Amino acid sequence: MISVEEARRRILTYVSELAPERRPLLEVAGQTLAASAVASFNIPPLDNTAMDGYAVRAADTAGATEDTPVQLRVTGELAAGYVYDGRVEPGCAVRIMTGAPMPAGADAVVPFEETDETGRAAPSKVGHVESLVRIFKAAGLGANIRRAGEDVRAGAEIVPRGTVLRPAHLGVLASLGMAQVPVIRRPVVAILSTGDEIVPPGQPLQPGQIHDSNAYTVAAQVQRFGGIPRLLGIARDTIEDMTAKVHEGLSADMLVTSAGVSRGDFDVVKEVLRREGEVDFWTVNMRPGKPLAFGAFRAPDGRQVPHLGLPGNPVSSAITFELFGRPAMQKMMGAPLIDRPVVRAITRDRLRMTDSRRFFARCTVTLEEGRYVASLSGSQSSGVLTALARANGLAVVSEGSPDVQPGDEITVMMLDWE
Ligand code: AMP
Ligand code: MG
Repeated sequence: MISVEEARRRILTYVSELAPERRPLLEVAGQTLAASAVASFNIPPLDNTAMDGYAVRAADTAGATEDTPVQLRVTGELAAGYVYDGRVEPGCAVRIMTGAPMPAGADAVVPFEETDETGRAAPSKVGHVESLVRIFKAAGLGANIRRAGEDVRAGAEIVPRGTVLRPAHLGVLASLGMAQVPVIRRPVVAILSTGDEIVPPGQPLQPGQIHDSNAYTVAAQVQRFGGIPRLLGIARDTIEDMTAKVHEGLSADMLVTSAGVSRGDFDVVKEVLRREGEVDFWTVNMRPGKPLAFGAFRAPDGRQVPHLGLPGNPVSSAITFELFGRPAMQKMMGAPLIDRPVVRAITRDRLRMTDSRRFFARCTVTLEEGRYVASLSGSQSSGVLTALARANGLAVVSEGSPDVQPGDEITVMMLDWE
């Protein structure tokens, strides 16, 4: 029997970072940046106004108050996206909209709220006008100006290689003008269900049959972790069928099978793996999900395709893929191996330790009066998938612990916060 950590460590020795590729910006969320993004220009490119208001010479507004306003000549107006061709001369102002570049001569912006700007005619986009504005508050030098390069400096590394791209990164890359982004390729994960009793959803059940749920849970996990699932269907418990289906999966970056690894069934998977690659069968010190097969197939092109053989029980299959498939995918995607966040929570229920294995209990965590409270989300049988579907976390009780009593503090690995 090996520990969860040892199983993970061994699996990770079989997987490596995939090759980089260039993808359209909108497709790269969740992928790892393969080359640092460097700015070729400043952002913002020019000094510009942070407010709608009047571009002025700060010195001209000295002493302005509600009771003693300063009156300036408005000589022009300017919307964002245009450049003013004139200068703000002493005693003058240009009406200016947020984001518009500062006109020459001006060194501060007085917001509309500090002027008699009300009920004026809608401005043109850019041009010269003649009117007057009263300023009710003195402006400091540089007031309400966003400086060129204050966000991004030309020549600087803005997003380092190895960054896992989140929505704001996509925005930053867009602001740098990048339409295509170098990222580590998404892993293609082939998924094969096995078992004589398994039929696909959509097909009516004959006595003794059940629908394939594992393929769909795992495919959605693959998607959620950033990969591309490829469903291979269902292999019968025969060497011939299993071999044929496995061959279809060897163009993928990883092959995941479910079932056929418990004592009674293992012979088929083991025999196929023995003929086509190498296999290890592990008893991992965890509940659920004790049996796990792991190995590698030789693809026709000579590549080693890592194979993760999950247990058949639906909860075991999902939890073992979470614990072992997720880090394998992170490594392939060039991402740091970051564990799920954990919280300390008070358990409402008793967590029964039926053996000395590490127990991953399906539970629902809520925040109540400033502290996290965990409740079991249903039966802890490894066949009861609905209890996992209701859960947002897995309580982790270490090997050999006594039963956990209601009111005890426990550690919960959060799967979903929603
Ligand atoms: P096995 O690992 O083959 O002994 O299967 C363990 C349990 O998981 C059995 O009750 C199977 O019927 C069930 N099982 C196996 N594969 C699937 C699947 N793809 N979807 C749902 N349940 C499955
Ligand atoms: Mg079976």
